[in-house]
Order: sequence, then structure tokens, then C-alpha cells
Amino acid sequence: MEEGRNVALCDDLGMASALRTIDGFSCEGKRVLVRVDFNVTIERERIVDDFRIRAAIPTIRELKRRGAKAVVLLSHLGRPDGYREDLSLRPIAATLSELLGEPVSFVEECVGAKARMASAAASEGAVLLFENLRFHPEEERNDPAFASALAELGDAFVNDAFGASHRAHASVVGITAFLPSAAGKLLVREVEVLTKVREHPDTPFVAVMGGAKISDKLPILARFLPRVSALCVGGALANTILKARGVSLGASLVEDAMLEEVSERIADDPKLLLPSDAVVSQDPTGAGPVRMCDITEVRSDEFILDIGPKTRARFAEAINGARMVFWNGPMGRAEVAPFRGGTDAIAFAVANAQAFSVVGGGDTTRYPLELGLADRIGFLSTGGGAMLEFLSGKPLPGIEVLISR
Ligand code: ADP
Ligand code: MG
Repeated sequence: MEEGRNVALCDDLGMASALRTIDGFSCEGKRVLVRVDFNVTIERERIVDDFRIRAAIPTIRELKRRGAKAVVLLSHLGRPDGYREDLSLRPIAATLSELLGEPVSFVEECVGAKARMASAAASEGAVLLFENLRFHPEEERNDPAFASALAELGDAFVNDAFGASHRAHASVVGITAFLPSAAGKLLVREVEVLTKVREHPDTPFVAVMGGAKISDKLPILARFLPRVSALCVGGALANTILKARGVSLGASLVEDAMLEEVSERIADDPKLLLPSDAVVSQDPTGAGPVRMCDITEVRSDEFILDIGPKTRARFAEAINGARMVFWNGPMGRAEVAPFRGGTDAIAFAVANAQAFSVVGGGDTTRYPLELGLADRIGFLSTGGGAMLEFLSGKPLPGIEVLISR
């Protein structure tokens, strides 16, 4: 059998069944390069949440257990344009070392002589983390010479960065041309769970969607509607649907350019559950007075900034009756304290549900994490944009290159 190929994953999962995984992947004595997603939020030199770092640990441990000589980690952080000290991965090496309970060596370059030497000199069982890939513009250009330079750091390649797999970048796509390649445990789990949500959710299936832009999320809303028993929509996402139904929303954020498409594709669907009341204010910063009102009573100078208590209760009731729940997107301007009540209420409802719950989104996962509810969520996706693209049915370039057809 060709190395790392044709490993069956799970029979009924369509594309997941052809994904090359690390089961049967030869790693004995090899330096295995692992693309991870350590794109965490760092505020004032502190890692705000280490959830993505923790998520990479099972693959690192498995590769070591299977005799990898060294595990060589590559990641991006943020969107630097050249070197930026505040986006160095150095503090992440320290955090990973603590979580793993063993040393992690940080290497200040991810390509070039210094990087090659560090990888060649790695001692048996070493874990190395190389500097931010995006300090090199060639990474995002999927430059073949850069991909080949990265490939020189190892003998085999594993992609465990689901959150970066919607990008055709050198460390995700280009590198697979140079090394035997497979999907890590986290990537496989993401594909399995999200394929289930997308293709054959347990029923009753309830989805809760919020956040900012309906232009991003309309493909998923439209895809979910025929499969759900209810689709609860909050946040600014709901505003555009409500306006399409003729409700006056004052100064609230609405995507007017989307009104026609929203009307045509989803606005009249009886399975949509939309806000019936709201938390409103003239001041979206949260500094001014705030009031609750019925959704039809928003004044012309007010913004809808959260779902109201009646809506929270209706959404929670729908969630409660489900066997599978999917949630993406805050219910309001939840990063501002006076407007996070609705989002917290959804986090509790999802955590308390008897259902298998799947929660994801760049802005969404922090709420269950901050509330200490992560253990009561079936699966927290590490993907933001990648998860949304996967659920809307788009092939992700970083996954496509790991599929044997
Ligand atoms: P995710 O990254 O989890 O998919 P989004 O990026 O779509 O979520 O949405 C998060 C953003 O949506 C936040 O910045 C939040 O402030 C904004 N948002 C949600 N509801 C509202 C609202 N009613 N008014 C203004 N902004 C909102
Ligand atoms: Mg976001």
C-alpha cells in the first residue's frame, strides 16, 4: 500500500471515507510536519483562550506514540504583513509546553538554513514550533518554492488545521505536493461531525444562527431550512430578514443589498423563528441607557443590540426539543457587556439540551468557553470561515488534497 493512502475512516460519511488519515500513516523514525491552527487571540501578551492549542494535542501525542522521531509544528497567527513582534508564536510554545507537559522548542524562522538545522538536529521525541508562517507573503500566495522549503523541515506532512483548510496556502495545499500527507485527528473529527450536521443530522434538528452578515450566511440558512425542524435566527442576521418581512427596525444594522435575495429565498419560510422582542439602545457602545421592547416598537433612533427575554425563551424551548443542535453566531453585539445576555442564554440552552450539540464560529466559541460550558457541548468547532464554507457545501482546498478518489 502506498504510504498514508486509502485509509477507511467511516463507511457512511461520503467524503470523509476517502480522507487519508494518520491511521496506517508511516511515521516511525520520521520528522512529521504538522500544520496546526494556533490562531489564538493574544491580548496584552496573554493568550485569551487556549482552546485551539488544546485541540492539537491528541494528534501530537498520537504521532509520538507511533514512533515519530520529532513533531514539527507550523502555524499562522493573525494577518501580519511581514514580521510583527506581537504576532510571534513564541508565547504559544510556552503554553503548548505547559499543556503537553513536555518541552517545546521554539524556532525563530520557518524556512531557511536556521529552520533546516533546527529540524535536522531535533532529538528523539522532540516537539518543535516554528515561527509564524504569515511573516512570509509566499505562504498566502501558495508559492511552490516556499512550500518546498517548508517540506524540507520534515519527512511526512499532517494537516490538523481545520480552521485554515479553506485557504489554498503553501503550508496547507502546496506542501502536499512534496511529502506523503494525511489528515490529523482534529481535522478528521471536524469533517466527521460537520458532515453529519450537513448531510444527515439526527432529528429533530434545530439550528441557531446569529452574527453580523447575512451575505456570509445565507447559503447555510438556505441549506439548513429543508433539514431543520426550526431555524432560530438572531443578531444582525435577523434584522435583514425582519426588514424583508416589513418590520421597522430603527437604526439597526441591516444589509439592504441582500433584501431581495433574502425575500426570495428564505424570508417566508415557516420554520424560521425570528426575534419577537429586543434589547435596544441609541448607543451601540453600551454606555447609554438600554431598554427592552417588542420587535415592532423599535424607535427610529434606536439600534437592536440583543434578543429580548421572550425570544430567548422561545429559542430555548426549540433547542430543548431537539436531538441535534447547531449554533453559530452571537445573538447581538455580545462583545459589549450590556448586550451579551441573549448570547449567554443561548449558550446555556445549548449546553443544557439533551441533544448532541455542535457550536462553532470565530466569535461564537468564546461564549461557552467563558461560561465554563465547553464540557457540555458535544463538539466545539475550531473553524470560523472554514466551518461556514464546509457547511454550505463548498470543497475546502486543504481537505481536497488529502482525499484519495
Ligand atoms: P462568527 O464569527 O461566530 O460566525 P459573526 O462574525 O458572524 O460570528 O458575528 C459576530 C459579530 O456580529 C459581532 O461583532 C457582533 O457585534 C455582531 N452583531 C451581532 N448582532 C448584532 C446586532 N444586532 N447589531 C450589531 N452587531 C451585531
Ligand atoms: Mg466572526
